Amino acid sequence: MLNLLSKLVEAPSISGSEQSVREVIQKELKPYVDEIRVDKIGNLIARKGKGSPKILLAAHMDQLGLMVKYIDKQGFIFFETIGGWDERVLPGIKVHVQGSKGAIVGVIGTKPVHLQDKDEQKVSYKLKELFIDIGANGREEVEKAGVSIGDFITRSGEVSKMIGSKATGAGFDNRVGCAVLIETVKRLKGFKGTVYAAGTVQEELGLIGVRGTIFGLEPDIVIALDTNIAGDTPEVKPQESALQLGKGVTVDLKDAISITNQKAKKWVIETSKQSKIKVQFNVMSGGATDASIAPMIREGIPSVCLAVPVRYVHTPVEVVDMNDMESTVKFAVECVKSAGKYF
Ligand SMILES: [Zn+2]
Repeated sequence: MLNLLSKLVEAPSISGSEQSVREVIQKELKPYVDEIRVDKIGNLIARKGKGSPKILLAAHMDQLGLMVKYIDKQGFIFFETIGGWDERVLPGIKVHVQGSKGAIVGVIGTKPVHLQDKDEQKVSYKLKELFIDIGANGREEVEKAGVSIGDFITRSGEVSKMIGSKATGAGFDNRVGCAVLIETVKRLKGFKGTVYAAGTVQEELGLIGVRGTIFGLEPDIVIALDTNIAGDTPEVKPQESALQLGKGVTVDLKDAISITNQKAKKWVIETSKQSKIKVQFNVMSGGATDASIAPMIREGIPSVCLAVPVRYVHTPVEVVDMNDMESTVKFAVECVKSAGKYF
């Protein structure tokens, strides 16, 4: 799973520009499905099997990023954020500006501490003060390097193995879910019905891509595969999130915009008991996933999100436990197999 996750993380694809990760997923899925295509807005849709029930497994392919907004005379690049960033984690990170002549390494520079007075040290940078330095001498050099207004900027992407089964990197939300999607489809054998596997676009901008996919396929049930907010670190109280790394797959019973369908909840609880795969249940006030929008499409489609707990979500140093990815794959396979009894 570590190799697969690395391949996905090394293909940075921010919202609105998901092609590089889509190519990786397409290549991995192709030998295991009956049909695979890309729709008009870039969602990847694969099909395996025929008949009822129709199950849609959806993992969003996009990740947070930045976009070139303005290049000043000295050659510094000012940018806009794409997706739900914590702006305080931006200063000091390495990025890749995806210009027309290929990716260029840049850094989000800051004023050295030696020059800051006491008041400056107390406050964090505001987004409009931040800029990217690609090493250019002036605007012309930036333009010559192939950088223009509207170009996407990605975080530097690689996976580093940590102690035990943990790993860190950027964009785990939702490369982790994409890896789970691929592995689940590879392991699906002997189930009744149709499984659609979709890599969706622009989830981070408001669950955009999956809407048309659900409308078009009209599945009986939607299973989103995503990441969840681990709370097992010093700054998070357990009553804010009790999810822990190493304790396996998580299921939200409520998020910012939806409550999990009660039949889907029963299905998940009974499948957990029968398969002896433990589930961490969660009740959230913020956040939403591709599953959250399904009840609002057509006559309303039941859905659930099977998510891998991740620490420091939406920062460049997200941390995952590979065993939780494995548990999520196993549980997704069991859920697909038992879905026919419920939907
Ligand atoms: Zn996500």
